Amino acid sequence: MSEIFAGVTVSGETRLIGEVAQGAACGCFCRVCGSPLVAKQGEVLTWHFAHVARQENPECYAGALNLIRRLAIEDILGKAVLKLPECHVTIRRPSRLGHSDAKLAWQPEFERWVDFAMDAPKGATVARIHLVDGEIAELSVEATESPISALPVAVGDAGMIVCRFPIPAPKHLRTFEAAMAQIRATAAWQWIRVPAGAAQVKRAIEQLDAQDRLEAARIDKLAHQRAIEAGSRWAGIARRNRAGEAFLRPRPAFGPPPTGAGQRMLCPAVRRVAR
Ligand SMILES: [Zn+2]
Repeated sequence: MSEIFAGVTVSGETRLIGEVAQGAACGCFCRVCGSPLVAKQGEVLTWHFAHVARQENPECYAGALNLIRRLAIEDILGKAVLKLPECHVTIRRPSRLGHSDAKLAWQPEFERWVDFAMDAPKGATVARIHLVDGEIAELSVEATESPISALPVAVGDAGMIVCRFPIPAPKHLRTFEAAMAQIRATAAWQWIRVPAGAAQVKRAIEQLDAQDRLEAARIDKLAHQRAIEAGSRWAGIARRNRAGEAFLRPRPAFGPPPTGAGQRMLCPAVRRVAR
């Protein structure tokens, strides 16, 4: 955007370049510096306003950009009911196995506006929305020259929705209706924070945590079983060791023959000695 596409009349009304008479007859002034403007509506150049004495400043262009955003904000806040974007979020909870995720999608419902801040700067909240489920969502509006890509979604106490739209090309900035039609057609709505209190989020957190408790109990039970198994294995080894010691324990090779016992009862060593 390098041209001024709007001016303000003596009575303070905003006019776009296609809504005024040509040249100095436009009767408009710069919205930023107050200088008189001339309307240039030629065949070759983009339609635009020029300062009569050619003393426009960078702020005068910035003011035109702000106006686009202001028009969008007024259009959005003028709606009695707003169609909200669907919530899509992945809930992640810590677990015994690292973490577990649940992918959620649902349609939040607008109930009413609760606060307006029409003049809030870029990135700030221009309005707060009361949702049907009792949660609050903040709205910010951005006119952007960069391509609109998806933003990461988080969970927060209050939700946050951003409405972003590309700055319309000059041919769409000749009348208010054309500008608004273009902004509405190209606006991208996205949740960047979903309310933590939303029933869907709370339910998912409860389910993930319950799963984790089950998993933790299963792991504990398994560990307990393994400990018992290991215990009995060691007990078995110890038993076998004792039996082995008994087998290896040296027996007396010499000694008095048992009284009244026959030679057949003697061990071979004793028999040899007895011969
Ligand atoms: Zn100016």
